Amino acid sequence: MVMNDMIGNPVPDFDLTENMKMVRDVAKAFAEKEIKPVIMKYDESQEFPLDIVKNLGELGFMGVLVPADLGGSGFGYLEYVTIIEEISKIDPSVGLTIAAHNSLCTNHILLFGNDAQKKKYIPDLASGRKIGAWALTEPTSGSDAGGMLTTAVREGDYYVLNGNKNFITHGSVGQVTVVTALTDKSKGKKGISAFIVENNTPGFIVAKKENKMGMRSSDTTALAFDNCRVPKENLLGEEGNGFAQALAVLDGGRISISALALGIAQGALDASVKYAKERKQFGKPIGDFQAIQWKLADIATHIEAARLLTYRAAFVKNEGRHTTRESAMAKFYAAEVAVQATNEAVQIHGGYGFIKDFPVEKLYRDVKLVTIGEGTSEIQKLVIAREILEL
Ligand SMILES: Cc1cc2nc3c(=O)[nH]c(=O)nc-3n(C[C@H](O)[C@H](O)[C@H](O)COP(=O)(O)OP(=O)(O)OC[C@H]3O[C@@H](n4cnc5c(N)ncnc54)[C@H](O)[C@@H]3O)c2cc1C
Repeated sequence: MVMNDMIGNPVPDFDLTENMKMVRDVAKAFAEKEIKPVIMKYDESQEFPLDIVKNLGELGFMGVLVPADLGGSGFGYLEYVTIIEEISKIDPSVGLTIAAHNSLCTNHILLFGNDAQKKKYIPDLASGRKIGAWALTEPTSGSDAGGMLTTAVREGDYYVLNGNKNFITHGSVGQVTVVTALTDKSKGKKGISAFIVENNTPGFIVAKKENKMGMRSSDTTALAFDNCRVPKENLLGEEGNGFAQALAVLDGGRISISALALGIAQGALDASVKYAKERKQFGKPIGDFQAIQWKLADIATHIEAARLLTYRAAFVKNEGRHTTRESAMAKFYAAEVAVQATNEAVQIHGGYGFIKDFPVEKLYRDVKLVTIGEGTSEIQKLVIAREILEL
């Protein structure tokens, strides 16, 4: 990805690396062959595609960032965003499954778990034998995630969890959930801790399954904790570090949501280019009309800019540098671009964009999640402003 210029300074060559090309080809072939034929079946039934997820595990896509010695693929963020983009071009719901499982649950344990926790949980997650969830959001605390009410009270060798979580991806299909809860209410955000909770623990209750506008085959549920006793060994890091851990996890997660947005936008563009060549009106393909050409040119240019921001965030992340600003910029920009792209794609398809026989109908519904999940666009702008103002 990086070459040297004439005086030896590193310059990016903007080409995909061999690894990126390899995972792109594998992801593309899998999405075309295994996902595309069943997309609408799962979208309509809102059933979680367990068979697809099992295959994702076999491809190594459920442990993309996990080192090989813990059973993962041992890739970095550049390969990770390439996989998510490629899958999301075809089905963003499956892209979201990969993103939430890898970036949130698995990565939280990978980043902040001790050796025993990693050995116990990561190999099953990385292989896809177990599906991971990550529970931060609550009914009364979304953007203000630090305002959570769920508590974890130490009783002997256990923490006893009580409270409610909302909109949790893999809430009902997961086996392992990272849960944040207050261990010391008096300390506010600094009293929040993170725990690994096995979903079959008594008192772990799967509550309402959401009936969603888009991303319908991705599992989203509310969770309740009713005297849920979690062994003290399942505390991640130190008591009081949970909120800071969550923010660090989101710095990585937002890069995956940028890639998800990028895939949706590219999928919408690809479908629109094809349609603009095929559909004739007034005796010629609609792609001959300048109004359509300008739409395609706008979308294509915005996508390239979003891709550069996403790859840059991934590159900086791979170097182990602080990415709060890069991740928020990539996520904010790519998400807004993807919403515009799907809107124009439906317009280019005319009435056919409004019916379920064409892929842009689903992309138009799925896309809205990317301006909301892992921090809304408004929150990304707050984060970016805080970074540039050094607040
Ligand atoms: C499909 C789906 C999957 C999800 N998966 C997960 C998951 O796996 N785990 C998890 O923990 N959460 C998950 N979430 C939750 C998601 O992260 C939250 O929905 C999101 O952070 C926004 O919170 P909220 O919905 O409570 O909206 P609110 O915070 O109530 O926001 C409402 C509006 O107010 C705006 N707003 C709020 N505060 C400010 C401010 N200070 N300045 C300007 N505007 C502001 C917001 O931008 C938004 O437009 C998921 C959500 C969805 C829809």
